[in-house]
Amino acid sequence: MRNGAGEATRARLARPPGPGGAYRAPMDRTLAADLARLPDLLDATRDAAAEALATLDARPVVPPPPDKPQEREALPERGTGTEAALAAFADRWAPRLSASAGPRYLGFVTGGATPAALAGDWLTAAHDQNSNSALDGAGQDLERETVGWLRDLFHLSDAHTGTFVSGATMSNTTGLAIAREWLGERLDVSPAEDGAAALGPVRVLSGAPHSSIAKALSVLGLGRGALVPVPTLPGREAVDPAALERALADAPGLPAVVVANAGTVNTVDFDDLRAIAALRERHDFWLHTDAAFGAFAALSPEHAHLTAGLDAADSVCVDLHKWLNVPYDSAVLFTRRRDLQARVFQNAAAYLGPLGDHPDLVHLTPENSHRLRALAAWFTLRAYGREGHREIVERDIACARALGASLAEDPSFTVLAPVRLNVVCFTLAAEPTPARLTALREAAAPEVFVTPTTYAGTPALRAAFSNWRTTHADVRRIAQALHTAARELG
Ligand SMILES: *Cc1c(COP(=O)(O)O)cnc(C)c1O
Repeated sequence: MRNGAGEATRARLARPPGPGGAYRAPMDRTLAADLARLPDLLDATRDAAAEALATLDARPVVPPPPDKPQEREALPERGTGTEAALAAFADRWAPRLSASAGPRYLGFVTGGATPAALAGDWLTAAHDQNSNSALDGAGQDLERETVGWLRDLFHLSDAHTGTFVSGATMSNTTGLAIAREWLGERLDVSPAEDGAAALGPVRVLSGAPHSSIAKALSVLGLGRGALVPVPTLPGREAVDPAALERALADAPGLPAVVVANAGTVNTVDFDDLRAIAALRERHDFWLHTDAAFGAFAALSPEHAHLTAGLDAADSVCVDLHKWLNVPYDSAVLFTRRRDLQARVFQNAAAYLGPLGDHPDLVHLTPENSHRLRALAAWFTLRAYGREGHREIVERDIACARALGASLAEDPSFTVLAPVRLNVVCFTLAAEPTPARLTALREAAAPEVFVTPTTYAGTPALRAAFSNWRTTHADVRRIAQALHTAARELG
């Protein structure tokens, strides 16, 4: 045995004791060998990545599950190094992974990674920064520069500061945590100090909130039950502003939180953000706007009006791993009340120092240590600028419209809502049961991945376009797969 335990022990004992009498253990042999040939290993990894990306178009969008559950390997007692791990990954796991980085993965709202974003993400791991304190401040300076660019991209004013978090769920949670503290300010208590119970009952009003809002309320101790659904406009997912005003007037004097939705996941409907903000002249509430992917409408002159009023919010959620096309996981939370944000998330410790006017990032989000998450966003914005990202957004919108038009012409399908931005919400014209929709999805699966939903009580499917690679040639392929699958279903 080349690496027998006895041999390792003998090697260790053969060395002289280190300072303080401890035995200096040599670096694990396999690790030391990998260190010695690190550039070669990075080249091999580069090849594996290039291969994965080069085959995106040919691979099934989502491979079918294996016939029998994949056996789990036991933890290796002794490792065999990076090259062998690359081979094992290529053999056992890579073939099972979906082509979600590619152009025909239209499930959920899924972005890919632009070349520059991917480069930035690789370098994030290579530099392995924990960018949260001025004691080693370059990382947080880079994050602040990137946040400034994003603010510009979404036409937000300087009154908003931003922080990176792992996704829109975390962004919504962070925004609502600041809202919770604001409610406390109104009632002269601090939920951050005294607990959420100090607030008494809280009302969070919203028309068609994303599921992550209820999850955030659960995490924050406000409870899922705090969510008060407000009627939407007829045939729409946008809140009815008059109904919202009535709901606010229902409990006069009780400060509330309003969650405005800028881009719902089913039909990408937008609340009238300006009308909601105007209600603050008569009612006291915190306005949080979930613009996870809808904020990107601001990049397209034809659609920017949908986001008018975004800046008026007290906090704004924007996802970046969707339509900015940076790798998971990345989102931003913007707020006008960084003081309250620091009150909630401050991480007082002797070695971290006072908060000051520009609190370190460690005091601003649920995370303490975190990767230099901003770097991938920095890279793609530096590489392609506003124009490059506008082109991605507009092409995706055009692709969604083209698919919507193609499905509308086929009597097998019903398109359930106008294609307002980048999502087509559709169903089978005849017997749109969940079982038949599953059969349709599976029949089209090698070519396209769409996800199920229910819209206005009807089982349906969603095709969401947010990948930078998607072209009209992809739309033709997707449309053909869906038309054929529907014909075969009958
Ligand atoms: C995707 C999405 C979320 C949740 O985002 P994650 O990145 O999955 O945490 C929240 N709100 C909206 C509108 C979304 O589209």
